[in-house]
Amino acid sequence: MKILSKVFHFKGGIHPCYRKELAAGVPVREIPVPAKLVIPMSQHLGAPAKPVVKVGDVVKKYQLVAEAGGFISSPVYAPEGGKVVEIGVTQNASGARCASVVIETDPEAEAVPFAAIPDWRNAAPGDLLARVGEAGIVGMGGAGFPTKVKLSPPANKPIDTVILNGAECEPYLTSDHRVMLECARQIREGAEIIRRILGTPCVRIAIEDNKPDAISAMEEACRDAEGDFALVKLPTQYPQGSEKQQIFSVTGRQVPRGGLPMDTGCVVENVSTVNAVYEAVVKGIPLTRRVVTVTGGAVSSPGNFLVPFGTAYRTLIEAAGGFREPAAKVVSGGPMMGFAVTNLDVPTGKTTSGITCLTRRDISFFTSQACISCGRCVDACPMRLIPSAMSQFIEADDIEGAKKANLMDCIECGSCAYVCPAHRPLVQHFRRAKGVIRAEMAAAKAKATAK
Ligand code: SF4
Ligand code: SF4
Repeated sequence: MKILSKVFHFKGGIHPCYRKELAAGVPVREIPVPAKLVIPMSQHLGAPAKPVVKVGDVVKKYQLVAEAGGFISSPVYAPEGGKVVEIGVTQNASGARCASVVIETDPEAEAVPFAAIPDWRNAAPGDLLARVGEAGIVGMGGAGFPTKVKLSPPANKPIDTVILNGAECEPYLTSDHRVMLECARQIREGAEIIRRILGTPCVRIAIEDNKPDAISAMEEACRDAEGDFALVKLPTQYPQGSEKQQIFSVTGRQVPRGGLPMDTGCVVENVSTVNAVYEAVVKGIPLTRRVVTVTGGAVSSPGNFLVPFGTAYRTLIEAAGGFREPAAKVVSGGPMMGFAVTNLDVPTGKTTSGITCLTRRDISFFTSQACISCGRCVDACPMRLIPSAMSQFIEADDIEGAKKANLMDCIECGSCAYVCPAHRPLVQHFRRAKGVIRAEMAAAKAKATAK
């Protein structure tokens, strides 16, 4: 395996304070099985999953509890066996409400994994792809896009490169870092499975150079990998983990405006997702748990935990020793792209990468002021947008103007807000306006379908 030193440098980006040392050195710990799991039906992008169990049913560990609700959707399995005690509605970390299946767990319950496919090298690519879909695997880096759909590009979009995203550029978070250290060989095999599914010759493992131990672990695990397998050391720069920036950094290819990564012949998969592909194919285990970083100055013992989906945030914070001092802010994810959480009883899911508990000293309080046209946000934007202009359109309720200024290309990385001396709530504006545009598009689609 080669180590490639040549990288392309994307425009913009920032160098925030990373604070990864809080949890990076702490090996993954399992938590005791929670007495109750509240399993959300929307842990992915697309249609919610539809429950196939009813109240009173006794389910086994890894049994299907909800089937995919459409083409872009994903099934949901029981992380632990037990009794279904409620099918209702729960609040998720972003504050949205979604359907859920509540299981009172029985740690002694029998497990019913899929049949393992240890000889995947001789399995049909279609069978491997089917396993990825039936195991409920979605992008675990944050977006939650169903992996089966991502690995099924149309015939006119041939893929020649699979990029394993091990950048984990979000400050504080270290779950991918630990997965690379502790499951390097599994990730390598997961990448080979994906390569077989896509018939893609080229694999690139992209890791930021602030994780030298993860680079060494992946290098060692992939040393004898066959074919065009290479590790790319990326300079540490936020948002290096964003798909579009990473494709450019690794290949020099630019995703066109309004386009998708597949338009460049690339598929980007987060390393934890690739590990889940290995678990589903080689061990027959559906996606029912993940590594979550619980960190920040407000928790007593920051670390990384292997967590069954449906575990409450509160339970995880307790597993990290609880609060050492009152948390001024709890964020689902990291401070750049995460969401502030107001209810610690919300459940974890497939895209919960971390819980960041910040003290009053960690956050700044400010009053937003008028734009002074300094242009710093323009320099920082990795998508070559003009954040100041987009935000002014939105403040004037001119959503159409913001759309014409390419608002939908915004990846909500927060780089613009990070550098803004006037503390403008830029990302909040962008998220709100994008929500309005998406709602309008959904209404128009529903109207067209009804005709
Ligand atoms: S949040 Fe959007 S506008 Fe701001 S820097 Fe990131 S991509 Fe650019
Ligand atoms: S960084 Fe802030 S003050 Fe400067 S141009 Fe952008 S929005 Fe305006």
